Amino acid sequence: MSKLSVLKELPKVELHLHLDGCIDVHSAHGMLQEANVPRKYRNMPVSELKKIMVVDKSLKSQKELLEYFRIPTMILQTGNNLKRAYYELCKIKKDDNVCYCEVRFAPQLHTLGGLTFDEIMLSVLEGKRQGERDFGILTNIIIVGLKDRTSNENIEMLEEIKKYKDFGVIAVDCAGVEEDFSIMEQQKFLLRARERGFKITFHCGEVKESLDDLINMTQAVTPDRIAHGSIAIGSLDFCKELIKKNIMLDICPTSNLQAGLYQKYSEVPLKSLYDMGVPISINTDDTVLSDISLSEELNLVLQNSNLTLKELIDMNFKALEHSFADDKTKEVILNKINIFLKGKLI
Ligand SMILES: [Zn+2]
Repeated sequence: MSKLSVLKELPKVELHLHLDGCIDVHSAHGMLQEANVPRKYRNMPVSELKKIMVVDKSLKSQKELLEYFRIPTMILQTGNNLKRAYYELCKIKKDDNVCYCEVRFAPQLHTLGGLTFDEIMLSVLEGKRQGERDFGILTNIIIVGLKDRTSNENIEMLEEIKKYKDFGVIAVDCAGVEEDFSIMEQQKFLLRARERGFKITFHCGEVKESLDDLINMTQAVTPDRIAHGSIAIGSLDFCKELIKKNIMLDICPTSNLQAGLYQKYSEVPLKSLYDMGVPISINTDDTVLSDISLSEELNLVLQNSNLTLKELIDMNFKALEHSFADDKTKEVILNKINIFLKGKLI
């Protein structure tokens, strides 16, 4: 069995994945017909939509990358479209043999068409229920607060969605344009999320200048995991702290390259972090928007980072360990992986 086939067929765990970055372009075309959008978007052929929804080159900044979310944000303003997006994400992941993933989205981005937080949550949860049932994968939801809102505004959203904890919503994150908004502004929000019983994570490290923020925020809130954060390599002391506190970095190499953080894949310090003992997982961030499946991403890591297939499989086990799944789910996934690996010489 070739290494690529192993990576393709391995039952995989993906921890850093955005709902709005995983909308198939053909589906988007259909969803636009239902959304309240200007006619020019409804009439746009799939080939044109693709140009503004799928990144096909390296961009200058994270800010530029985030512009590709314009169409997904327009689309995801109806209950049906939210449900459909989650359902189809389950299929996309199933087709790539991802057997467990954590899907994140920001409820505040989906109220523009008048949906309430309850309507948003119930639509997404219905898509999750149907997707898991039809495609046999397991998922959990991470709620994202926004860096361009105040901590108090994010807390207001949190107080409304907290009742969905234990119904598939397990953790809280915070994301947004890093060059304009410091994650340090969101301490109160994330600490409140922890008080409410959620696991916490935050986006940081998509621009080189954020190392201080990354270190300070980690010290302030002690997250369970960090979204991105590969720039941690710039501080040996901080890496030691991540190891000591067992905090995983959910790294998305292609996304980081597209956002201009690195110029070449081989610059992403995956091997150095791994060898040092920093817990890391490999993810796509936005499977459709970044045009990369998890198998393809892992294959790129294999080709460009000096990490071996065995080490990538070890990372998959570690991702499961650091996932926010309950023990029963972890056991089911662990069995799946072990059955696949049995008898294979890797
Ligand atoms: Zn992300």
